[in-house]
Amino acid sequence: MVFVQKEHLLEERIQYLEKINNYSAEMLEQALNLFDFNLKDRLKNGDYDKLKFLKDIETRIRKILPLDDVSFFLVDEKTSDFNLVYKSDSTNEAYILKELERLVNDWTFARALREKRSVVVNSLNLEKDILLHVMTTSSRIRGMFMASFIKNETSEIPEISLLLLSTTLLVCSNFLESIELYEILSKNNILLEKTVRERTKQLKHQVYHDLLTSLPNRNFIIERLKSLIKRGHVTSAALIKVDLNRFKDINDNFGHQTGDLALKIISERIKESCREEDIVGRFGGDEFAVILPGIETEKDVLNISSRILSNCEKNFVLDEQKFQIDVSLGISFFPKDAENISDLIRKADVALHKSKTDKSGISLYSEKYDNIDSFDIFIKVDFRSAMENDNIYPLFQPRYCSKEKRITGAEALARWEHPVHGLISPGKFIPVAEKTGIIKKLTEHILKKSLAQAEKWSEKGLDLTIGVNLSAIDLQDESFPDKINRLIGQFNVDPRKIEFEITESSVMINQNIVIANLKYLHELGFSIALDDFGTGFSSLSYLHMFPVDNIKIDLSFVKNMDTSPENRKIVQTIISLGKSLEKSTTAEGVETKEVAEMLYEMGCDCIQGYYLGKPMRPEQIEDMINSREVL
Ligand code: C2E
Ligand code: CA
Ligand code: CA
Repeated sequence: MVFVQKEHLLEERIQYLEKINNYSAEMLEQALNLFDFNLKDRLKNGDYDKLKFLKDIETRIRKILPLDDVSFFLVDEKTSDFNLVYKSDSTNEAYILKELERLVNDWTFARALREKRSVVVNSLNLEKDILLHVMTTSSRIRGMFMASFIKNETSEIPEISLLLLSTTLLVCSNFLESIELYEILSKNNILLEKTVRERTKQLKHQVYHDLLTSLPNRNFIIERLKSLIKRGHVTSAALIKVDLNRFKDINDNFGHQTGDLALKIISERIKESCREEDIVGRFGGDEFAVILPGIETEKDVLNISSRILSNCEKNFVLDEQKFQIDVSLGISFFPKDAENISDLIRKADVALHKSKTDKSGISLYSEKYDNIDSFDIFIKVDFRSAMENDNIYPLFQPRYCSKEKRITGAEALARWEHPVHGLISPGKFIPVAEKTGIIKKLTEHILKKSLAQAEKWSEKGLDLTIGVNLSAIDLQDESFPDKINRLIGQFNVDPRKIEFEITESSVMINQNIVIANLKYLHELGFSIALDDFGTGFSSLSYLHMFPVDNIKIDLSFVKNMDTSPENRKIVQTIISLGKSLEKSTTAEGVETKEVAEMLYEMGCDCIQGYYLGKPMRPEQIEDMINSREVL
């Protein structure tokens, strides 16, 4: 402790100044030391200890003032009580608590709080003085620092020491607050990390697993094949694709719930038929895949395959109903048949296709099956994901009607943006889709998109009808109108805003079903157009038999009408036919203004073709309508 002397001799004075100098240097050192707690590192390393921290503060304070007993009381956040958290070794706890009680009761505490500085008063022990400092941060009271020191009549604590003491305690309070905040945050963080970890695990599971069967999904199978093959974990492997025959019948006749249960049963049966090390996954829909790592001989694969086949084909009962499902299997070998994954999968598909078409049940891949037909398979496989990813979508070609003098609708024409093959035209993929049966899904997909568009247009107050092309396969499906009816229920669209386009050839087979279907659709309010008229039989009887509202004159007659008198005659005949049967007529393939004017003169109701515009995005149709530059 430094004492302020009243009188000095010169020598004493020099000594005194030196002392002061040393003292100031020491205080400056202490002030600088205030920032080297290294708390950040300690907290990060998890070795923070409150008592150690307060001990450190004590040591620092003792360098500022020669104190006797030292104690820290901190506020308990819940009870608001001051708890004795730390005391120097010599301090008597009972004594210090008594002192505290007295200081609170005689208002010393209140004074210290008000004055925001250390207060020195007599202690209960008459030889000592007591120093009290309320520890606060900018937001609240955190605690109290109490210390005692030997009374000395002639001395007084230097102001600079008190200042340094209060700064040290302020730094200490702020640190305590940061630590508390840190602890709350890290607790939350641990909780958050745990939640994130669990959620990530769930998501990972979902990315790689099929929700219904909990089997690994297509992504997983592909990843696993990749890692097996690429990292050289196996020198050989086989891939079996399993497909359920006519599984759709179960879905259609007994509902999706029963279908789902059946899929679960089959997935169990496939698993039971395989070895421990084999990986069974659901590839999508009613397709499963099995990887057999390390398997070498055809005999071994065929053994497992026939086990799968016979187990899957056993009867099972659901809802007191007996079921039996036939399956087809296709097998490809790594590396014999294919050295990369896409080839391996494709070749298993080729083998599967062979099993399905000749009903042989199980086939091993062979080059002789790998002919042009596999293009169908490739399309079939890609088709599903293309629709799911919206790589197949309709563009809309506008139709203009002369009586209304406006664009009254548009035809939805499918486009496929293929990641490898570029834009594939409907002329290419529709026939394949028809051959493989996936056309029904395509129709549904394009219809959904068209309904969504019709809904948007009607919300915008645009009165537009959308033409949707149907294929023969759709029309021969007895459940088709019901499906459409269910679908339209999902949209806020007047059925009259959808016009189904059918061709003569598509109504020739199974006429009874087709007629019934068309009548049903017509009763539901949908319009029907007879497409490509003039190219087929152009039979008048069709126009009587089917509930047709609109005749679309094939573009082959329209395109060069201006130069071909013969085509002109045909077109005129069809228009007159339409008039006498009270059907409207639309000319397709109108490419020039001349042809358009010729058609209006002939009494054709509506036109469609490049003259108005190629198939386009729906917004472009809106722009056309808004710009009113039309004809
Ligand atoms: P479509 O129903 O006869 O459709 C008219 C075709 O003629 C469209 O070809 C259209 O782009 C084209 N076209 C329109 N105006 C002109 C013109 O002024 N000049 C010329 N040269 N051509 C014109 P796109 O889009 O290639 O469609 C071809 C066929 O594919 C369609 O013939 C239709 O039969 C079928 N198709 C398209 N989308 C679907 C669909 O979603 N489902 C079904 N089942 N078939 C579809
Ligand atoms: Ca059409
Ligand atoms: Ca047409």
